[in-house]
Amino acid sequence: MKKRMACLVLLTALLLLAGCAKAASKEGVWVAHGYLRDQCIAEIDGVRYAFIGSEENPEQRVYLAQLDQNGEKKRLVCSKEGCAHEQQGRLADPCHAYSAVTGGLMAADGKLYAGSHNGEMGVVEFDPEGGPPRAVLTAPQRISCFLVQDGWIYYAQQDQTFAEPALRAPENGYRMLRRRLNDDGAEPEKVYERGGVVGYIACAQCIGDKLVLTEVYLEDEDAQDASMNLLRMNLDGSGGELLAASAGGHFAAQVESGLAITRKNEDGSWTAELLDTAGAKKAELDRSQDRMMVCGQMNTVLVDSGAQLAPRTLRVYSAAGEKLGECALEKQYSPLLGMDERYAYYWDGGKLISVDWKKLIP
Ligand SMILES: [Zn+2]
Repeated sequence: MKKRMACLVLLTALLLLAGCAKAASKEGVWVAHGYLRDQCIAEIDGVRYAFIGSEENPEQRVYLAQLDQNGEKKRLVCSKEGCAHEQQGRLADPCHAYSAVTGGLMAADGKLYAGSHNGEMGVVEFDPEGGPPRAVLTAPQRISCFLVQDGWIYYAQQDQTFAEPALRAPENGYRMLRRRLNDDGAEPEKVYERGGVVGYIACAQCIGDKLVLTEVYLEDEDAQDASMNLLRMNLDGSGGELLAASAGGHFAAQVESGLAITRKNEDGSWTAELLDTAGAKKAELDRSQDRMMVCGQMNTVLVDSGAQLAPRTLRVYSAAGEKLGECALEKQYSPLLGMDERYAYYWDGGKLISVDWKKLIP
């Protein structure tokens, strides 16, 4: 009897542990690109990193720092001996944590990667211990987005003509390329290309084992508003398909039932939607005149109603599409940075704000 009890206790403990291991995942889901440029947060083994401003210039996010539990600077990612860090000259032999960030920060295989302009445009790899940063990609133009995945670097070059009507050259088109991360002499492979149109790729994500891209383009050269599509393909670029038209929102969030996305409708409104894994719409979560943002983690979707129009709200949905709660957001908060099992994250100036979305569920 005693033995049986012990077994039961052990079994219960194991079940609890298994349950806990799943529920207690504190790892965040972070927006690495798109509407975020130098504001991204990346995470390695539960440790979070972000570019922050110097004491003299808090607005200019150029120093890579490890964040403490409150989202404040714990240390700069620099182990250089005798480095004066923020006081170190930036031109010759700068602090290892310094980077002229151009867009995006992500973690892969224990390293950090940022779009950077340290002399040349490209992507720089940072050692979280603070060793010297390494340029893993240099390019003649700004990188509009990149992704490091399974030893490859995927990158799209920004078409500078997009914002300059006089310079628009549809014949240039736009493309997503990839090459082995550690082989900078290799000729890049074309993963996706579209010609005859002015545009760029705003966001690249790996969802499941697929590459998911948000392309932004102009229907014609004189168009005022850009169109967007969410595309999905194999990591080598084969089997490409349109996952969702007029959709992307620069970020698609994976949840247990499929994908959460935002879509621009013909009447100019925006919707936040749930798609099944084939891309079919399962539920409309929310509708706004503003550009909405979504983030998701397993059984939860967060929808930010957008930063342009008052009032700004954060709504919490189940992965089945049921609205669970909401709260008001300060209008001056940054775009949505990401989420974890309890909080949604925003910058308010140089300060990281955690919004307790869990508390919003009655
Ligand atoms: Zn330093």
